Amino acid sequence: MKNELKTAPRLFDNAFLEKLTHTNSKVAITIYVATAMGVLVYGLSTIPTTFIQVFVLFNLGRVTFTLVEYLLHRYVYHSGKYDQPTEWQFKIHGVHHKHPKVEDQLAMPIPLAIVILGSFFFLFYYLMGSNSFFFFPGFVLGYAFYLTMHYLIHMRKAPKNYFKWFWRLHHLHHRFDDRAFGLSSRLWDRVFRTMPPKKMNGKRGVRNQKSKI
Ligand SMILES: [Zn+2]
Ligand SMILES: [Zn+2]
Repeated sequence: MKNELKTAPRLFDNAFLEKLTHTNSKVAITIYVATAMGVLVYGLSTIPTTFIQVFVLFNLGRVTFTLVEYLLHRYVYHSGKYDQPTEWQFKIHGVHHKHPKVEDQLAMPIPLAIVILGSFFFLFYYLMGSNSFFFFPGFVLGYAFYLTMHYLIHMRKAPKNYFKWFWRLHHLHHRFDDRAFGLSSRLWDRVFRTMPPKKMNGKRGVRNQKSKI
C-alpha cells in the first residue's frame, strides 16, 4: 500500500539536495522553540514594554503564522500539478501526500526554514520596529506548534479528547486535497470557505479514515 512507505523515496540526483530533503522534526522543533525563546528574552530584557503589549504582539504573531501557513499550503504547495513527481511542488509537498508516513519528510529542511524565518523577521522589523521582538517569537512558536502537530498527526494515533479535531481535519485534507489547508488552526478554512462539508465527516470522510488514524 502506498501509504505504508516508511522511508523517503529519492527526490534529487544531487547528493547535497537529497540530504536536505531529510529533516528530523524533533531537532527542527527544538531549534525553533529555542530561537523564539531567545528573541523573546532579548526583547524583554532590552526593550521597555508592558505585559499587555507583549501579550497582544505575541498572539498576533501566532495568528499571523496560521494565515501564512494557510496561504503557503493552499497557493504554493498545492499550486500546479503538485502530485506529479516531475514538478517542484511534488518535491516540497506532493511527496508528503503520496507518502504521509515518511517521518523525515514532515518538516521543511532546517537551513531553508532559517532563511525564510530570517526574511520574515526582517520584514516584521521593517514594519513594526522593536515590536517585532515580541511578534516574531509568537510567529516562530506558531510554526513549532504546527510542526509538532503535523508530526503527531502522522506518527501517533488520534487522542480521544478535544484535540482529535487536528487529526480529523488533516486526514481529511490528505483525502480531499482542496479542503482543510489549515493544520494548526481552523480559522482560515472558515474565513475562506474551505472547511470540509459536514457530510464528508459521515459518509466518505472520517468514517473511512478511522483505520488510518
Ligand atoms: Zn497538502
Ligand atoms: Zn500531512
